Amino acid sequence: MSGVGLFQGRGQRSLCLLLALVYGPAAAGLPFSAAPPARPPAAGKLIALTFDDGPKPYVLLGGRLPSGRSSAGLLDLLDRYHVKATFFVMGWRLEPAADGYCRRADGGVPCRVAAEEVHRRGHEIENHTYGHGNFRQMAKRYGEAWILKDIDRASAVIQKMTGLKPEYVRPPDWDIWPELAHQIEARGYHVMSKSAALPPAWRDVDSEDYFCVGRDPRCPHPSDFDFVLGQIVRRERQGVSDHILTFHELPSTVELLSRLVPELERRGYAFVTLRQYSADVPAGWGRSGPGSHHRVDTGNRQR
Ligand SMILES: [Zn+2]
Repeated sequence: MSGVGLFQGRGQRSLCLLLALVYGPAAAGLPFSAAPPARPPAAGKLIALTFDDGPKPYVLLGGRLPSGRSSAGLLDLLDRYHVKATFFVMGWRLEPAADGYCRRADGGVPCRVAAEEVHRRGHEIENHTYGHGNFRQMAKRYGEAWILKDIDRASAVIQKMTGLKPEYVRPPDWDIWPELAHQIEARGYHVMSKSAALPPAWRDVDSEDYFCVGRDPRCPHPSDFDFVLGQIVRRERQGVSDHILTFHELPSTVELLSRLVPELERRGYAFVTLRQYSADVPAGWGRSGPGSHHRVDTGNRQR
């Protein structure tokens, strides 16, 4: 990572945050009152934005589907705020064989072209498996070795594109168990998780944005913006000022982020990729052996 790039602008952001602390969150027109964070913000506060289930060209580049569904361009939005993010992609979408499907279903452009653009603009591409099969179902059907192969298959296609082997795996639905997590970690990956066994700064914050497609009543109220910001404020009150936020490549998420990114910047956050995040935020992984942090929660509402 470029340490210079990461820390540039932190002084300005700290000043903004100081003003916010002096004048209070009400001055910002926020929908709820937020207590000052327990930890002084001067140490630097990091957000790793992460996106699952892509690459989806019409969301990344902006466009309209034959169905009429349209999206503003996520990559342009991130560029506007000089934000670098991390994309957990499905390996199959990067294959030439997926070009026809992607053109038809996801906005006229091959998915791998959109992924190349993600990489070209300096974002990180990580592993959301090749086929996005639920681990529990796949293990029952094909065995755990099949899952490990599926992960490696995704890494191979990602590495072919980016030149970098993915370092992080996010299981579909976050559905995993300790023995499998150990096996994945033994292959050199970090497993992304919402587990309470992880240090708080390394627990995925679930935006639940997948509920905000169409009119699903499970979409957080009063809005997903409030839901995500509320989780961050609660974590700040507990002294946690670094967060990994989990989103999906969805048109509604691009809209949400067009409000959330400037709000978080105003609150003093710098945006980094996961590899940059890991350089600054102690994780504990790899220090006491693979899998040592895993006591994975199951049965949560997960995606
Ligand atoms: Zn997924």
